[in-house]
Amino acid sequence: MIEKKQMRFYGIRDLSKIPQFKKIPKDDLFATKVVSHVLPFRTNNYLVEELIDWDNIPNDPIYQLTFPQKGMLEENQFNRMAELIHRKAPREELNKTANKIRFELNPHPAGQMTANVPVLEEDDEPVRGVQHKYRETALVFPSAGQTCHAYCTFCFRWAQFVGMTDLKFATDESNRFQKYLKQHKEISNVLFTGGDPMVMTLKKLEVFLTPFLKPEFEHIRNIRIGTKSVAYWPYKFVTDDEADGVLKLFEKLVKAGKHVAIMGHYNHWVELTTPVAREAVKRIQNTGAVIRSQSPIVKHVNDDPAIWKRMWKDQVSQGIIPYYMFVERDTGAKNYFEIPLYQAYKIFRDAFKNVSGLGRTVRGPSMSALPGKVSIEGISEINGEKVFVLTFLQARNPEWVKRPFFAKYNEDATWLNHLKPAFGKKKFFYKDELKKILEERAAKDKHVFNAKEELEDEHLAAGAA
Ligand SMILES: *Cc1c(COP(=O)(O)O)cnc(C)c1O
Ligand code: SF4
Repeated sequence: MIEKKQMRFYGIRDLSKIPQFKKIPKDDLFATKVVSHVLPFRTNNYLVEELIDWDNIPNDPIYQLTFPQKGMLEENQFNRMAELIHRKAPREELNKTANKIRFELNPHPAGQMTANVPVLEEDDEPVRGVQHKYRETALVFPSAGQTCHAYCTFCFRWAQFVGMTDLKFATDESNRFQKYLKQHKEISNVLFTGGDPMVMTLKKLEVFLTPFLKPEFEHIRNIRIGTKSVAYWPYKFVTDDEADGVLKLFEKLVKAGKHVAIMGHYNHWVELTTPVAREAVKRIQNTGAVIRSQSPIVKHVNDDPAIWKRMWKDQVSQGIIPYYMFVERDTGAKNYFEIPLYQAYKIFRDAFKNVSGLGRTVRGPSMSALPGKVSIEGISEINGEKVFVLTFLQARNPEWVKRPFFAKYNEDATWLNHLKPAFGKKKFFYKDELKKILEERAAKDKHVFNAKEELEDEHLAAGAA
């Protein structure tokens, strides 16, 4: 029997209250306080009581995953903030400096906020909270799902959690997204994302999910929910008051012929080990829903092939299907977390080669960039030139998918825009077409898109000689 747990969030104000936190060395505790004035900090009682190994501070991966660390700010940023805290500066001054530093941390990764918002034909207005980048799949960002059961310190949505972005993304829940889906029969997948859609109440979840039971949504075959709840709050599916209702809802969709996929965000095998985590997995699977796993690769949390190997093996044992390894985006505390692409590839390969075929459903390491999801497939030498072999797992034009292309090998590169085409080519093969696609969209929807800016932001850098 798993005992019920009442969810408690812990943040900056609780640093001196929680008994486990006494294990944190004084300097580290102060550093966490300083950094959490700038970057969001939220952990919860499940992570603190069941997942973090308090005898392994500060190296414990789940501690690193949720507790802001000194190295997440540049030294001068840290010192500016620390000085204000030391001299007990007024709140206004703290906020002003915090905001300045936040702007230095690239709060909007390229294209995120504007690039893929579709418009409804009837009024030529955007469908807020929906992103439609790849033909088959629409992303939905319910406004009530824009937070999480804890905050990952590497999260690329950090700006949203500290209230910097105006949540242009969030749907108005006026059914505009349903209208859009009805009018776009090419969409067969809907992917709910956030934040974490599983922070929503059952009632809210029903508002978003039950429409798919109607015949006009027959073309929507697969319903995915991207969630970290299986790792951050598995009680959601086990002992929470609405747990059974949530599972019933999944079951209803499955019975209606939908493939329901819980896209579980797991960063470390530890997250699969507690009794409640295992029970949550079982209960979700008993509804007929499938759990697939995805995770970014980040320094200090999981930059070791042994961690991935064990994670994929444990997932396969529990019937979870490994799906994606992502490269972390270039925002927030990127210097603290980022791993060069060649290393990400090595870690992927060293783990991949040590699991059976059942674990080799995973793909990556993959960058979700402006043109699509670009995966590093290998490092090779062709005609004497060392190159990265790249491929699109997903692309704005489906024709680009699974066509190997080549970038000059570069050990400093951590993102697509650091890569240059190999063999003396001036640009990657997709560049002109991408430009055209973005410009066409910009012309059609000028109130939503600013393609020019986005092109400069990421892509020209990625493809230009
Ligand atoms: C990853 C992603 C999807 C889903 O792609 P799949 O390859 O089907 O998993 C859809 N839309 C966006 C914007 C994405 O980044
Ligand atoms: S679960 Fe996802 S959205 Fe939530 S904090 Fe972590 S990375 Fe960000």
